[in-house]
Amino acid sequence: MPEFTVLNPATEQAVTTIPVATAAAADAAIARAVAAQPAWRAVSPGDRARLLRGFAAVVADHVEELAGLEIANSGHPVGQARWEATHVAEVLRYYSAAPERLCGRQIPVAGGLDVTFLEPVGVVGLIVPWNFPMPILAWGLAPALAAGNPVIAKPAELTPLTALRVAELALEAGLPAGVFQVLAGRGSVVGRRLVEHPAVRKIVFTGSTDTGREVMAGCAASVKRLTLELGGKSANIVFADARLDRAAATAPQAVFDNAGQDCCARSRILVQRSVFEEFMELLEPAVTGIVVGDPALPGTVMGPLISADHRARVASYVPDGAPVAVRGSAPSGPGFWFPPTVLAPVGRDDPAFTDEVFGPVAVVMPFEDEAEAIAIANDTRYGLSGSIWTQDVGRALRVARAVEAGNLSVNSHSSVRYWTPFGGFKQSGLGRELGPDALDAFTETKNVFIATED
Ligand code: NAD
Repeated sequence: MPEFTVLNPATEQAVTTIPVATAAAADAAIARAVAAQPAWRAVSPGDRARLLRGFAAVVADHVEELAGLEIANSGHPVGQARWEATHVAEVLRYYSAAPERLCGRQIPVAGGLDVTFLEPVGVVGLIVPWNFPMPILAWGLAPALAAGNPVIAKPAELTPLTALRVAELALEAGLPAGVFQVLAGRGSVVGRRLVEHPAVRKIVFTGSTDTGREVMAGCAASVKRLTLELGGKSANIVFADARLDRAAATAPQAVFDNAGQDCCARSRILVQRSVFEEFMELLEPAVTGIVVGDPALPGTVMGPLISADHRARVASYVPDGAPVAVRGSAPSGPGFWFPPTVLAPVGRDDPAFTDEVFGPVAVVMPFEDEAEAIAIANDTRYGLSGSIWTQDVGRALRVARAVEAGNLSVNSHSSVRYWTPFGGFKQSGLGRELGPDALDAFTETKNVFIATED
């Protein structure tokens, strides 16, 4: 049977091998999910809520173990890995409140009673990328289960370990067999089967925009419901009136978090020309001070990239002679290391400005005024996140309304809170995850009219 060898990206050593799920295994899992659905949707709201709270509690009891798996499989720094495992428990806990609140409506009509029901959409296929294996799994899994749907998750080829373990914890917590399954298989085989299979009624896909487009085309054949969370190339806009010290001190983490393998990375830093030089002086120590190294050590801020191939792709954005303004450090020797790198000056047609690098490479570009800042920020096919640094509240709001992106923060870089909506404009995605409305993506509204007249 073919196997994946799971590598530790910090050491290049094998962590383990796991069998590769086949298309036939996907069909069998889909059949089990279909069989599990009637009983799962029939679980009373209170009992489904209790099961999800129990699932959250079991995950919370295994934070250290899950974090350890993510450190080994993904090279995530220990503090981040613990946050991610805790986040899974929190997202499950948040949506455990949903089954008892899945309220329909009663709408006034003549001659009877009109009510709506929020019915489960059916079997959900959840296709997950390698950059945040645990959080992105939880974002689809928790609301889908809460709404009464069985879930089949397909983790990325490179990072299957935490998803496989979370599925075991679900069974330990008492979730019925078949309600949550994980298939570690190839995107082109198992991912595609989930997209094509008529019994899968909804796909939640997070990954690259190119693959997302293919998934969207595949879903069209059966008019399958679809949520897409795709790439990004977000702007961090720093106005001259901003608290420049804070803007410069925080800009590196807004790009280099998770070694830049973050769809929300603010990898285009736009700085008003009058403070450009001052900003660059403040930025330099913030970049060179990033501790890159062994992800298991508590002081580590940035770990390795996920694979040798990915490192080669990232490196192609920093060819010999590239305008490197600041370069941090990275270990030598085994591991897929790449130093935090800031490029300036670059043009608006430079691939480092236009493409999602998905690594620790940022560009810094000056702008003259508010209008130009907005124009540069929107000069991208993406629209996922962004930040605005200014002390002028009117400007902050004007710019926040004008930037075409789904998740903006003012004087901070926060993008993700599980109780607020998350998703992209333009080619960054379709639909929203998280927050109070995520259940809409996992339910169908059914309208029922009951005549009261003879
Ligand atoms: P990817 O598109 O290569 O793969 C994502 C997932 O899709 C993997 O599980 C893969 O096996 C599967 N897949 C591949 N081909 C498929 C096919 N034909 N049919 C069905 N499934 C298929 O992406 P990646 O390299 O793993 O992840 C990085 C990308 O994810 C980046 O572009 C990043 O911006 C994006 N991302 C977006 C968000 C968001 O919320 N918007 C969050 C995280 C990552």
